[in-house]
Amino acid sequence: MPNLSPEFIEDMRALLGPETDAFLRALDAPAALALRVHRRGEAAMPFIAGAVPWAEGGFYLRPETRPGTSIAHWAGAFYLQEASAMLPAAVLAARPGERVLDLCAAPGGKASQIARAMDGEGALVANEVDPARARVLAGNLERLGVCNAVVTCEKPDRLAAKWPGFFDAVLVDAPCSGEGMFRRDLDARKQWSAAAPAGCQKRQADILDAAARLVRPGGRLVYSTCTFNAFENEESVRDFLCRHPDFSPWDFEMPGLGASEGGMLRIWPQRVRGDGQFAARLRRAGGETEDTPIRIAERERGAQLTTPCTARFAEDSWKKGARARRGARCPQAGKGERAATSAEDGRALVEALHDTVLRSLPPAVLRARMRLLGDRLFAVPALAPDMDGLRVVSPGTALLRVGKNRVEPEHALAMALCPEQALRAAALDEAEARAFLAGEALPRAGEAGWTLATYDGLALGWGKQADGTLKNHLPKGLRKTLRA
Ligand code: SAM
Repeated sequence: MPNLSPEFIEDMRALLGPETDAFLRALDAPAALALRVHRRGEAAMPFIAGAVPWAEGGFYLRPETRPGTSIAHWAGAFYLQEASAMLPAAVLAARPGERVLDLCAAPGGKASQIARAMDGEGALVANEVDPARARVLAGNLERLGVCNAVVTCEKPDRLAAKWPGFFDAVLVDAPCSGEGMFRRDLDARKQWSAAAPAGCQKRQADILDAAARLVRPGGRLVYSTCTFNAFENEESVRDFLCRHPDFSPWDFEMPGLGASEGGMLRIWPQRVRGDGQFAARLRRAGGETEDTPIRIAERERGAQLTTPCTARFAEDSWKKGARARRGARCPQAGKGERAATSAEDGRALVEALHDTVLRSLPPAVLRARMRLLGDRLFAVPALAPDMDGLRVVSPGTALLRVGKNRVEPEHALAMALCPEQALRAAALDEAEARAFLAGEALPRAGEAGWTLATYDGLALGWGKQADGTLKNHLPKGLRKTLRA
């Protein structure tokens, strides 16, 4: 282990006093690796040892297991996440039907935890300023089948100018000096310098000031870091509260961790099984703190009535409307973008898919607005804000691609489905599933047409059945040889 900097140890002594030696010993102990179940919890059973008390669906890993190379991980059954990293989204406590922003979201651990809590209802905007990391974020949300999320790649102040007061809840999981990761990330130890906390603090203040403008009156802001020093934590929060008197601390309690003080809580690795983490919850004055289910329903109805490119379907009209509409004509294009400008346009395109590929769609997709970008049709969450002029990585769930005389289902649609929602599904055994993920075609009898390849109740991607073969339509960039 590389040595810890003497300045860091001195800072910790100032915070911890006689507990410092236990803290330093804990930094040299093995990390508490964990996973968070996203769907089909049974698929995680072989890997887990005990529950993470503060996070729903969070479990510590059995040490000898390697869930990251499993088919279930590839298929989005769970997300590998360090136990303490589950704290900030637990504190945010997003609810179905809310508008939620994760401002620094890549690679997507907390965004996917928020999405799980929202259960497909409402809109999650997951933003990441770094384009390469934003693509990883979008890929992770796609793998997990999240279908009420938008992924943007923007600076926080540009979002604040575009969406003032829009969100019920905003998470700022800020870039920080990373002291909380000293146990499992040796580079974090090497890269730390005594000047790092001050440099980070300035950046955190800028991000927090933008975040403040994005929270609605009565809404909540959660600020988190994975560092220990008070400078980036308590001092950052206190400075923020001085600059923004319309915000105040909002205390909370977490199972296994106890109560916050002044709305703030820190996880110390010598006290619980987890790395370092800090979270603060703040409330903006005015408005209503609690959203009632009736208000949420009214808001969704409002979004449905006022958006220009609405293509919302009630489930019954969806089922009735399964007429043959193959080769549905696309609406006229603007430059690089075509909006499905009426419910009829969107319905026509999706019905074409429905006839050939689907039995039913997830409720979040049924509630969405349809939007055609280039040759791809997306289901945009009904409560998502206007995205014009912003760098958008994904405006929602990619449903289909429009070809010359046909429509083809998108991989994101496959990952959002349960096997029973596909018109045809092929339940693969383990060897077949590994071959499919590696991009191979499979010899297999079946009805001709688009077929959802599945393993253990989890979608893997699309194949096309023809002449005794399931041809592989997994996107090339996702093909992977998983070790048995
Ligand atoms: N929330 C993420 C998760 O759970 O997977 C981890 C986020 S990480 C701690 C902080 C993120 O902030 C990084 O992805 C980094 O690229 C981004 N970031 C760096 N500088 C930023 C800035 N000035 N404004 C907004 N985000 C920034």
